[in-house]
Amino acid sequence: MCGIVGIVDAGGVSFPLYYALYALQHRGQESAGISTFEGTTLYTYKAQGLVAEVFNSHTLEGLHGNAGIGHVRYPVSGSTVPENVQPFNFRYRGLDLSIAHNGNLVNAAEIREEYERRGQIFCTATDAEVIGNIIAEALRTSKSMEDAVRLCMRRLRGSYAIVALLNNTVYAFRDPLGITPLCVGKLDHGYIIASESVAIDALGGMFIRDVRPGELIHIDENGFSSVQIATANRTAHCIFEYIYFARADSVIDGTLVYDVRRRIGQGLHDAAPVRGDMVCPVPDSGTAYAAGYAEQSGIPFLEGLMKNRYMGRTFIMPTQQQREWAIRIKLNTIRGNLKGKRVILVDDSIVRGTTSRRIVKMIREAGASEIHLRVGSPPIISPCYLGVDMPTRAELIASGKSIEMVRESIGATSLAYIPLKDLVEAIGCDERNLCTGCLTGCYPVDISEERCHHSVVDYMAGTHHQAGLSTFRTEKQRT
Ligand code: 5GP
Ligand code: MG
Repeated sequence: MCGIVGIVDAGGVSFPLYYALYALQHRGQESAGISTFEGTTLYTYKAQGLVAEVFNSHTLEGLHGNAGIGHVRYPVSGSTVPENVQPFNFRYRGLDLSIAHNGNLVNAAEIREEYERRGQIFCTATDAEVIGNIIAEALRTSKSMEDAVRLCMRRLRGSYAIVALLNNTVYAFRDPLGITPLCVGKLDHGYIIASESVAIDALGGMFIRDVRPGELIHIDENGFSSVQIATANRTAHCIFEYIYFARADSVIDGTLVYDVRRRIGQGLHDAAPVRGDMVCPVPDSGTAYAAGYAEQSGIPFLEGLMKNRYMGRTFIMPTQQQREWAIRIKLNTIRGNLKGKRVILVDDSIVRGTTSRRIVKMIREAGASEIHLRVGSPPIISPCYLGVDMPTRAELIASGKSIEMVRESIGATSLAYIPLKDLVEAIGCDERNLCTGCLTGCYPVDISEERCHHSVVDYMAGTHHQAGLSTFRTEKQRT
């Protein structure tokens, strides 16, 4: 997962893009970048590091223009090279195009190979460059971005939310299943598109709505318009956005994330009640869940762990001793709150189990008599192919293990996960409209050797040039 933003604003966009990226920093800490356009020039500044490390007022002042896009990148294993930092720019027949992508394509290698066979050269390992080539291919015969996006939706398999800057115009589109989030808001003198609504809040804007799956949004100095390029008979919103990835103060596809997490916490108490003296969150991801659990159980919410907010991401830890210090700096126990207590410890998810094991050990060393771990997601048993940087099956602690085996490995007194049915209920939509691949091993798009719901997915974009053309729904609106 990454964070993306696109803004058109009569008052200039570099600073608004910067603040929006700041609000989306949780979606990616590896690199940050901004592209803007003015006159005939595309300006880009991007580098590895946090938003605050990459930009300063001098670099921002150099990013001229009233239209632009931005990107923060999540560290994805094995691809930490400067070439992969987005936005990705290319020139094609006098057009300057800059694009930023959030998600993961499952057929990028296939498409890349096809283009390479035709003699095309690639400079990066990014999906964004593959998408750029598809757009260029469409623009060869048509001047319209609408046609280019139609070709993208027909060819791309996987998750994608994309912002593109073509001269003075920002385009944004979302995959037909709406796997990755994207929403649109109004600013005083323009419009904003962003991965999460918190970016709109950061600029004092007004949330308009989510970008519809399969929809193309167009914003320029005249306002915002949209066209529906493809429709599917279901959505597949990423369930992990609600569990972990999104900020709790974001509204995603109509639902406030904090409410979902709080309801999950309540559901955890109903599903797996336990006697305890305190409900303790694992900061920060477990907080809303713990609030819900405490509320439902009547057991006091009390913090037993404190997180250091100033811990740098690039902490150099060459020795084992230093790594241990680093862990202690990052998280410390509040001993006075934990000593002799039966602790109900609440977190959002267990992935590898290494953090959870360490935290349980710390709480035990602080004198807790019992540690009942309650987890806001069902066991994560399967990898994510659609954008969340999850480990392989072998590294997932719950894969192939019973809950009792996981409990023993982590060292908790008891362990319970929220049942999938209760999680879906907390989100408030039909399970068939969510991607639950990491929890069920069943994915909404074809992934080799994995189970798939593809029979119920209707890629209308894929049938555009064939008989399915009549099923296309095109709607234009101008606000
Ligand atoms: P584990 O016990 O599996 O090592 O770690 C569980 C913790 O990892 C939970 O607190 C959860 O919030 C956090 N977590 C879950 N997914 C991710 C992720 O994609 N990136 C990071 N940095 N933490 C994650
Ligand atoms: Mg966490």
